[in-house]
Amino acid sequence: MTDNAKPPVIQMAAPKRGKPPVHFADLDADGRAAAVKDLGQPAFRASQLNTHYFTHLTVDPDEMSDLPADGRAALAEALFPPLMTQVRTLAADKGATVKTLWSLHDGVKVESVLMKYPERATLCVTSQAGCGMACPFCATGQMGLTRNLSAAEIIEQVRLAARASRDGVLGGDPVRLSNVVFMGMGEPLANYKAVMAAVRALVAPAPYGFGLSARHVTVSTVGLVPAMDKLTAEGIPVTLAVSLHAPDDELRNELVPINNRYSVDQTLDAARRYFDATGRRVSIEYALIRDMNDQAHRADLLGRKLMERGTGWVHVNPIPLNPTPGSKWTASDPKVEQAFVDTLASHGIPVTIRDTRGSDIDGACGQLAIKEES
Ligand code: SAH
Repeated sequence: MTDNAKPPVIQMAAPKRGKPPVHFADLDADGRAAAVKDLGQPAFRASQLNTHYFTHLTVDPDEMSDLPADGRAALAEALFPPLMTQVRTLAADKGATVKTLWSLHDGVKVESVLMKYPERATLCVTSQAGCGMACPFCATGQMGLTRNLSAAEIIEQVRLAARASRDGVLGGDPVRLSNVVFMGMGEPLANYKAVMAAVRALVAPAPYGFGLSARHVTVSTVGLVPAMDKLTAEGIPVTLAVSLHAPDDELRNELVPINNRYSVDQTLDAARRYFDATGRRVSIEYALIRDMNDQAHRADLLGRKLMERGTGWVHVNPIPLNPTPGSKWTASDPKVEQAFVDTLASHGIPVTIRDTRGSDIDGACGQLAIKEES
């Protein structure tokens, strides 16, 4: 910790604020059928609404011609209250990256980022407005936590992005949204219930959900060990990413303050348990920060700590730090980055350097923070 730095304040619980209206996407299958019946319609209408919402990606009653004309507007109005309005979109990487700023029912602003790759299209979603984890290199971490998003606020980000992507926002041709990563604003495992409801909607087969493959859904965490174990017990084999950023407690206590509660070893043990239960290889996220965490001895220690826990269960995703405004830190030198990768590889650890998208629109990892009131 530097001399003048204040100790970070971790906020595990979100402040209480006005809740967003309950939405169709907040409900499970039984809840959706019950809601439809409460509105005086037969329960099977719920499955028609599922198809409209998750497959046709629409909430517009005019597009629901299989529902009786009288009553469908009332159904849609009751079950699909508007949760977010688009404030602005910004494109980068020749149109292959699109960041959208959303305003929620209470004026809270959040962002999501859509990225097209040759073989996939990935949406980076926000799970909390702000974040309580106080990681000093992350712009969202500097904002503090405003509130948790509801399940439907997360699911709506996905529906709207899938729709935009289908309708050509990523360069003209229709593109199918295939991957979702919980790497936008917030700590997903600190908003566990809503995030899990969203995950279930992502992976549920049509018409009950978007039908994404669980392996194409990534939940990224600072390492909230009890919540990681809860996720392990869910039996939904999503990809788990753990933001490690340092292999030793001394440095990780500073870079990822929750480490003061759950140590590197406890975090890696929980990650290994996740692999044991799901068979899904865990990703270790490591933002390479010049002269902070990029030394050869740290690469070596990381390699040893991972190999100590077995082979084939983990891979490492280094990412060059995206500097945030006012930060004293910057990305590692490319040569140092390569040496870090080579050291890990010499331990037999698979390593993929993560690309950094949208840094010129402040849409890259760790840069999501709302700058102005719009
Ligand atoms: N709270 C979750 C998910 C959000 S951040 C988590 O921490 O995992 C998604 C990833 O971006 C995390 O690995 C995070 O550590 C990383 N990140 C944050 N700030 C960054 C920055 N300035 N440069 C590069 N990566 C960053």
